[in-house]
Amino acid sequence: MNNTKTGAKYSLKTALIHAGNQIDESTGAVNVPIYQTSTFKQDGLGKNRGFEYSRTGNPTRKVLEDLIAELEGGVAGFAFASGMAAITTVLSLYRSGDRILISRNVYGGTFRVLDKVFRNFGIEYSILDSEDPEDLRAAITDDVKAILLESPANPLMSVTDIGAFAKVAHEKGVKVIVDNTFMTPYIQRPIELGADIVVHSGTKYLGGHSDLVAGLAVVNDEETAERLAFLQNATGGVLQPFDSFLLIRGIKTLSVRMDRHVENAKRIAEYLRASEDVSKIFYPGLETDPGHAINSKQARNGGAMLSFELKEGHDLNRFFESLELISLAESLGGVESLVCHPSTMTHASIPEEIRKAVGITDGLIRLSTGIEDVDDIISDLDNAIRKSRI
Ligand SMILES: *Cc1c(COP(=O)(O)O)cnc(C)c1O
Repeated sequence: MNNTKTGAKYSLKTALIHAGNQIDESTGAVNVPIYQTSTFKQDGLGKNRGFEYSRTGNPTRKVLEDLIAELEGGVAGFAFASGMAAITTVLSLYRSGDRILISRNVYGGTFRVLDKVFRNFGIEYSILDSEDPEDLRAAITDDVKAILLESPANPLMSVTDIGAFAKVAHEKGVKVIVDNTFMTPYIQRPIELGADIVVHSGTKYLGGHSDLVAGLAVVNDEETAERLAFLQNATGGVLQPFDSFLLIRGIKTLSVRMDRHVENAKRIAEYLRASEDVSKIFYPGLETDPGHAINSKQARNGGAMLSFELKEGHDLNRFFESLELISLAESLGGVESLVCHPSTMTHASIPEEIRKAVGITDGLIRLSTGIEDVDDIISDLDNAIRKSRI
């Protein structure tokens, strides 16, 4: 594969497995070794073989970084110890006096780090309470330097037109950062749509097995690449060699996992839509969803995350306790189905008034659809819904 841009030569399904020069040059091993070393022997003063110290660069991490850069179609990739470390390092590109716009329903940890950490350093944020590009235009004051958005955004799966937002943002010299965790480059490629920076929690679909915590960032210009490489080394929240290996391994099977995740999610969404116990369902893969048209324009499909509300007359606690197959847990994107209660779990760090204003009700249930037999998932949901009736 010799470091060619496999994305240009091969389809994305192939690139998932081969991009990033994974064959080890020195031994021919088809999987990159776990270079579990902190430092590298130098051949003389100022002479090294491309690596000096593993915070700055590590061969296993490098393969992962090249892989994600190619999958997202950017110029450089960076791997971090968590999604939040990736987001924090990207936000460190900004300085006191700058303002970051965030879309509503942005990941709770992203809101928290802006509200409780970056504000202490004079970086302000505002929440854009709309998916309308004209509202974005009005919200861009002179101090706004970037907009950070997710589409679909958790937990109401609200869809933003990434291309339309990028157009308005770029007219005003504002960078667009997209958190692509929910979709992955297999389903949606934000840089192609106009984004400048893509961030990921590799903990979710890319890792895919709920067995590691990792983060990634991809940038689309050399200048930002240089600055982010500097910040990655300077602040040091890097991904370890073993975890880099696990994430590379996870990414190889992304297309088959994702196809099954999505197929299952569609079936479950149909089941929930037809259920007399369900009052609302949020899933951009359904034609009736308000985000369906825009999502179909910019993504391969609606992904595998969905949320729903049970009608009055259901005991939510009993619902969660009655599930046998599906676990109540934070996180998402693993092979196993998980449910969570956004208002007390993933979105608890968002103040109640904001939660209520954006529509995250106490009755909302979020499902991360796994790749089990879909009939088993549906019968588990069905059983728990029936038992939750008061
Ligand atoms: C989980 C998640 C993050 C944070 O990633 P960690 O790996 O948990 O630090 C950021 N954004 C989204 C959309 C997520 O789901």
